[in-house]
Amino acid sequence: MEQAETVRNTCIICDQPKPNGIQICAEFICDECEAEIVKTDVLDVKYPFFIHRMNKIWYKMNA
Ligand SMILES: [Zn+2]
Repeated sequence: MEQAETVRNTCIICDQPKPNGIQICAEFICDECEAEIVKTDVLDVKYPFFIHRMNKIWYKMNA
């Protein structure tokens, strides 16, 4: 896997260009958001927001 220092992926959660994160299918989630999702409780008010953002990924997977 290629990794250039100049490459900035735009996180689908926070919409910010970030150098570090994970790639899920064609989508990118930055380290901070990934950590945020992991520690977010299902009952947290932010949870539906994350799910909503990540629906983009599942949608593409099933397309
Ligand atoms: Zn992010």
